[in-house]
Amino acid sequence: MAETIYFDNNATTRVLPEVLDVMRPFFTDLYGNPSSVHRFGSQVRQRIDEARAQVAGLIGAADPLEVIFTSCGTEGNNAAIRAMIETQPEKRHIVTTQVEHPAVLGLCQHLEKRGYRITWLGVDRDGMPDFDELRKALTNDTALVSIMYANNETGVIFPIESIGQIVKEKGIPFHVDAVQLAGKLPLKVKGMPIDLLTISGHKFHGPKGIGALYVRRGLAFPAFVIGGHQERNRRAGTENVPGIVGMGKAAEIALKNCAANANYVRRLRDQLEQGLLQSCPDSRVNGNRQNRLPNTLNISFKYLEGESVLVLLDQHGICASTGSACTAGSSEPSHVLRAMGVPAEWLQGAVRFSLSELNTAEEVRFVNQKAPLVVQRLQGLSALGKLANREQGADASKASDRIAARG
Ligand code: PLP
Repeated sequence: MAETIYFDNNATTRVLPEVLDVMRPFFTDLYGNPSSVHRFGSQVRQRIDEARAQVAGLIGAADPLEVIFTSCGTEGNNAAIRAMIETQPEKRHIVTTQVEHPAVLGLCQHLEKRGYRITWLGVDRDGMPDFDELRKALTNDTALVSIMYANNETGVIFPIESIGQIVKEKGIPFHVDAVQLAGKLPLKVKGMPIDLLTISGHKFHGPKGIGALYVRRGLAFPAFVIGGHQERNRRAGTENVPGIVGMGKAAEIALKNCAANANYVRRLRDQLEQGLLQSCPDSRVNGNRQNRLPNTLNISFKYLEGESVLVLLDQHGICASTGSACTAGSSEPSHVLRAMGVPAEWLQGAVRFSLSELNTAEEVRFVNQKAPLVVQRLQGLSALGKLANREQGADASKASDRIAARG
């Protein structure tokens, strides 16, 4: 078994050897600029076209020209949102959810400060949005609806087709952040009520520094990086050729293996989940367990700090993550779990395990042995837990309030 058990695949994934192999020549022999007219350039251009078709295949786009290469998922999300407000300058309203990735959340907060009205749709305890709230939010002033396909912290999958139908009935552009879903589950934008969709290469065993934005044919879409004619005048700048070729290969492999990989990782994830729930009595799963990415488990350990669990897991060579943003050593509770109304005593102790097809049943068994020891040790030490236990029955809610106040 490897020394490191990597269960943090929603953060990033390992580049597959086949992906690295196709990238390598573009650093050595095939270093031409794809915009050059000579053969050295045109050879490279051809490989970019192939990669565009591979990426279009992964997302089920009808036409490879609907794919624009970007540098990452964050850029794709920014470009989609900014383009829609630029093409409709008279509209000043955006609809999104409270549980988006910071790549959407942060930009919408930024736009809010600049006078845009943002509707932040809530979610229920399972992490699912409310369709009525969405219907009520849409107005003639709405420039765009931007909603993620699958949540990076909980893995909860939104009913994007139904949401898109509601949005499209009003003729409003619909952007979907599919960074976590692409490569893990089948995706077909053709025929779906989706105008724009973001993906990122490093989430499905491609390289970092490369992403793609799907823009439905016929949608008005201005340049978002201005300069040369690359990406059909939409994103200027000499292309990241090794990244594009690598992402294309990773897309091709993910498409081929998607169903088998999903079944395999779901089995592993479920074994992990059952093992932890059984051996850690004060634990619970966060998020809808049916509509969930097959690789993701978000589990809370009562009264614990997720960060402490991670540090001790790391001592066993186990890499996982919390969903929370960490600043200068102090952890903020996850905005996603807060939006889901996760009670205070469970909020700080969330840990995200995210698997890939490169993980094994042996690794799951190892984590199922070690993680309960870590949790028991910390629960034994947890002052908050002791405090709450003492107060249980008398006034347990006071302890919860104190825990909440720390957040
Ligand atoms: N959107 C979601 C849902 C993500 O999970 C991430 C990355 O974690 C991003 C966007 C940003 O992608 P990138 O890291 O490629 O900028």
